[in-house]
Amino acid sequence: MSDIIALLPDAVANQIAAGEVVQRPASAVKEMLENAVDAGATDIRLVIKDAGKTLIQVIDNGCGMSRTDASLSFERHATSKIKDADDLFRIHTKGFRGEALASIAAVAQVELKTRLHDQEIGTHIKIAGSEIEVTTDCQTQPGTSLAVKNLYFNVPARRNFLKSDPVETRHIIDEFQRVALTHPDITFTMHHNGNEVFNLPAAVLRQRVVNVMGNKFNQRLVPAEEYTDILQISGFITKPEFARKSRGEQFLFVNKRFIKSPFLHNAIIRAYGELLAPGTHPAYFIYLEMDPSEIDVNIHPTKTEIKFQDEKTIYALLHSSIRQALGKFNVTPTLDFEQETSFSTPPLQPGQIVKPPTIRVNPDYNPFRTEKEKPGNLASRFKQPNASDWKELYQIVESSEAKQAEIRVEEERKPSEGPGVLLMHGEYAVTQIASGMVMIHLKRALERIEFEKHRAHLQTGTGTSQRLLFPQTIGVPAAQVSILEERMEDLTAMGFELNSLGGGSFSINGIPSGLESEQPRGLVEELLEQLTHLPTDLDMPAQDRAALAVARSAVRQWRRPWKTAELKHLVDELFACEQPYYSPTGKATIATFSHEEITDKFD
Ligand code: ADP
Ligand code: MG
Repeated sequence: MSDIIALLPDAVANQIAAGEVVQRPASAVKEMLENAVDAGATDIRLVIKDAGKTLIQVIDNGCGMSRTDASLSFERHATSKIKDADDLFRIHTKGFRGEALASIAAVAQVELKTRLHDQEIGTHIKIAGSEIEVTTDCQTQPGTSLAVKNLYFNVPARRNFLKSDPVETRHIIDEFQRVALTHPDITFTMHHNGNEVFNLPAAVLRQRVVNVMGNKFNQRLVPAEEYTDILQISGFITKPEFARKSRGEQFLFVNKRFIKSPFLHNAIIRAYGELLAPGTHPAYFIYLEMDPSEIDVNIHPTKTEIKFQDEKTIYALLHSSIRQALGKFNVTPTLDFEQETSFSTPPLQPGQIVKPPTIRVNPDYNPFRTEKEKPGNLASRFKQPNASDWKELYQIVESSEAKQAEIRVEEERKPSEGPGVLLMHGEYAVTQIASGMVMIHLKRALERIEFEKHRAHLQTGTGTSQRLLFPQTIGVPAAQVSILEERMEDLTAMGFELNSLGGGSFSINGIPSGLESEQPRGLVEELLEQLTHLPTDLDMPAQDRAALAVARSAVRQWRRPWKTAELKHLVDELFACEQPYYSPTGKATIATFSHEEITDKFD
């Protein structure tokens, strides 16, 4: 028997490897842009034709290459970035496997022009299907220009696999955006078939995000930051009200490398929790920095998956920083004290000296700080998101008002009880805050309050029951009996006392105290309706859904007109909630109007 094993010729080996590295034009774009970044360029231009099928060119002003390096760069495993295995654990560059150029050159006609900054003359190399055709001197700018023409010219089968131009262009834009979002300090441009697609001057991150995503993003962004010994988090998330039906626009970078991590994505999305309307997705641009040795480098660098040594901690830190960011953005307008324009500044008498109220605002204040979220041993490593202090904040505002009110007392000799709450159209409460005015959507606020109350009762089994003097019976339609029985345990924990009498009849013996309804039957009927018809795509645990059903029934049962005293109480209760700004299904409960907005109206 003759030997059958033969070594593949280099060109063939390269072609096979190329299949892995250069899956489509966008993968070549990624490698080429990353090489330019690694070369220290401050200006990178991408030019493509026909979705990259005819031409992909990257022109950079990076370090350039010597004649020898330029020739070597197309060899497999030629890299200037690592010398030994230990380097693998210190990688800060994008590439290090020395495969990209060799792979690209195996399946395209490539033209390289490159020049070191301290040299007069550059090098020109033409290579096609791994065959070097030309190596000469040339006149060129310092830096590197790499043109990749007719991708897969020698692998027609692969070329046929390419998708339509719009699809391939979309992939290229994705890669371009990822690199551009990672390096705001580098100027990037992109042209397609002679048209400018992007023109991104070097900028701060926020500006870069806006330039890449469009101006409308400016008002949507909320900064997120967290610095700890093991992990630095920075970047932007978008306000929940701008969440969209389609995904995408979600960018997570680890050590300046775009990654896809369903695990960390989940940490971000879970932090939004109920703030997101069902089925919507927020955009985010989050950057994690950590010791590269904390990351598993065995993961293929052209893929976007990643493994962390300590993923639980990273999850917790990320989750908490997003919660904090979400908490802060809505607080900011109320922290923006401007006493000169305050509503309650009394008219000054000539010569009168008025001490400005002193207001201390806790910069660490976070409405999300909750005791039950404390993940034990992590506690010392990062700031806890905090919740219950909403009330504190509100009191800060109130006390500043109270101080100003004191001045008013002297002035007008009139007693004052701080800012009043006004009922508007029977649906809104309006009250003054330090930064302007706030309007509260009463039904949603009540829904939020009731939801958190019943959810707490459910979780701790502390719901108390108001027993009915005269139990009522209710006939439950067959289709709803199983729904009711399925949630019976939860309903009992919240304070309902319902007993099956058989045949779809139930007796109502008690309802949760605080939900005193003149119509217990109506309440339970409403509850059944809610349990049956809650939107199915609500991303909530079943127990929360039960609490929501109760909350909604309570709101529906609210028939009395609001009394002013109740309003004040409701405002307090709302701000004592873990998440006062949104109803459980993510609708805004409050709208704030700043002084600016108000004075603008009178311009
Ligand atoms: P890697 O990036 O993994 O090192 P590549 O095949 O992408 O491997 O590139 C091989 C080498 O060619 C790089 O290590 C670098 O030294 C050099 N090189 C590639 N592109 C550029 C560029 N735009 N500017 C300067 N040097 C480059
Ligand atoms: Mg590379």
